[in-house]
Amino acid sequence: MTPADTFVRTALPPIGTDLRAAIEAAARPAAAFSGGKDSLAVVYLLREAGLLDRVTLYHLDTGDLLPEVREIVDHVKAFAPRFVHLQGDVLGWIERNGAPSDLVPGNGREPPGTGPGSIVQRYACCYANLMLPLWERIAADGVDLLFRGTRRDDLPRLPADDGAILPGGMLLRLPLREWKAEDVFRYLRSVGAPIARLYHHKTQSPECARCTAWWHESRAAYLRQFYPDLFADYRKRLAPIASALLPVVDAVTAAHAAILERTDA
Ligand code: SF4
Repeated sequence: MTPADTFVRTALPPIGTDLRAAIEAAARPAAAFSGGKDSLAVVYLLREAGLLDRVTLYHLDTGDLLPEVREIVDHVKAFAPRFVHLQGDVLGWIERNGAPSDLVPGNGREPPGTGPGSIVQRYACCYANLMLPLWERIAADGVDLLFRGTRRDDLPRLPADDGAILPGGMLLRLPLREWKAEDVFRYLRSVGAPIARLYHHKTQSPECARCTAWWHESRAAYLRQFYPDLFADYRKRLAPIASALLPVVDAVTAAHAAILERTDA
């Protein structure tokens, strides 16, 4: 074990006594497991503390996981005593409702139009395909304590903080709240957990390999290098969005040029 690993395992103790007590007090403790590094670290924290047999893992498979993320999910499924696999169909939803894009403002209004060939808010897509099915199942199962791998470093404005009581009376715990991404990787290495190849290239694991939104995740280069078939399909899915965008870019460019001309005159 390297000095860095020792630091992580001593400075960031696996499961504090309050979390252990919370699990023991809960009737139905659970953890959300996406297959990404953060939720994987939560799974290993629970496993190391000997608490995994008390906690149900909920995994929502959007139907568009990267193969290497699916391998990690299968790895965890093989040792987790309580594992709920929820199967989604994000590509079917997109076919029926439209492709998500960062271009549609997430201002809380209804998407300007949904249906085959439409471009929709990314939040509408994530809500329908990631959040809602997971929350509906967790609520239906009566979960009263939920662990998530959310880190403040990743999401400075946490939608719900560690210790929050969620609708339905569920207690939320975020054991990695103050961890940095490097802490997560050090911890995973220290316990021998698998680390997906994509983390050698990116810090985020996509829940949908071919998502046409969340451009900052810069999936194109990664798909092109390692998954040519997925890349070809991703490019095809982006084409209608580019077609909608290019006339707008041209119009804005022309308007900007006209403004500059008047300013110069
Ligand atoms: S990541 Fe993209 S494709 Fe997946 S649910 Fe969210 S917006 Fe939809």
